[in-house]
This record gives sequence, structure tokens and C-alpha cells, in this order.
Amino acid sequence: MIVRGGVFGPVATNTYVVADRRGGSALVVDPAAGSAAWVEDTLARLEATPVAVFDTHGHWDHVVENHVWAERGLPVWVSAGDADWLEAPAPFNPALFGFPPPTPGVTPARLLADGESIACGDLTLTLLATPGHSPGCMVAHDPESGQALVGDLVFAQGIGRTDFPRSDHGDMVRSLERVFHDLPGETLIHPGHGEWGVPLREAERWARMFM
Ligand SMILES: [Zn+2]
Repeated sequence: MIVRGGVFGPVATNTYVVADRRGGSALVVDPAAGSAAWVEDTLARLEATPVAVFDTHGHWDHVVENHVWAERGLPVWVSAGDADWLEAPAPFNPALFGFPPPTPGVTPARLLADGESIACGDLTLTLLATPGHSPGCMVAHDPESGQALVGDLVFAQGIGRTDFPRSDHGDMVRSLERVFHDLPGETLIHPGHGEWGVPLREAERWARMFM
């Protein structure tokens, strides 16, 4: 799995383009505010054809440019638990984001569930439902290349916040334990904020301080 990352928007959100190979198929992951031109450029450099948008979860900073891609005909995929947030994206704390103008919503084309997989050309990513930071957080794991898109579940040196509406710290701890148990420690993780390409076992050491 080829992974390209960029950092965008008022809270430094990571947007990714992942592709099965150069000249192959790609997913747009978490299209953050102001990411569209970079995504286009990255797709062009990889000579990749986008097949879908995958939102790791439904928080505003990760979904705000879904509409850019939906308008170009790409389906948007998200967990059922966060699907309603995509219909009318809005930040919980508008002041933190500089009172952004309303964003057009999208209707998800597919509602993802635990244990399902998503395909992108020759890539097959296995989905783990990891509620806690939000009810619909998803981890997408590529066992073949040993990489995982982990959203705001776990960062290089911390974990996602659980003081938001619909967050649940107990769920978060259970989700973290599950991922640390089920995924190999050498898996390279690509989180929703901060450094990416970090081994899961290094992130786990930090995460345990917050669990
Ligand atoms: Zn979030």
C-alpha cells in the first residue's frame, strides 16, 4: 500500500491518499479543510484513479471536504455510527475552528461495519470498529503491507480525546486494547493528527499513559 500524507486545516488534520500501486487505484482518506488541491496533485503524481473517499470517523475536521469529491462522483464511505454527521458537517466548538462557513453535506454511499473489508484496486483493507473518540471510529488495516489507517484512535504519542459529544472513554480503552492485541506491533500506523508511519508498539507505550 502506497501512503501519501499531508496536514491541513485549523487543527492540523492528516489527509491521506492511499493507492494499491503507481498507476492504480486510490482512496482519499479524511479530506480535511484545504486539502483538495494537494489530493489532486498527489493523485496525479501517482497516476492513480480515485475510487472512493474513506472517512475514518465523522468529525468535522476529517470530513469537511467530502463534498468536493462527492460532486466529482466519488462514493463516500463511513461507519454507520457517525453517518449522520456527514449530512450536515459542523464543528462542536466553532470558535476553535475560526467559525467556518456551513459545509455542504453528503449522503454516504456505503455504511461500513466491523469485520468488513474495503477494496481499492489490488488492496483489501480489513475494518475494525473502534468506538470511543466517536461512536463510528474505524481502523483500516492492510495486513499485506503491515500498515493501518487509525484515525483519531491512537497517535504517535497519545490517544484521541474522549471529552466530545458522543465520546466514551470506556469504549476507547476497549478499542485500544483490541487494536494492540489484534494488530502486529510492527504495523506502521497513519493517524488523523501528528506524525505518521510510526510502529504501533511505539505508539502503544505512549497510549497506555492515557488509558
Ligand atoms: Zn476526531
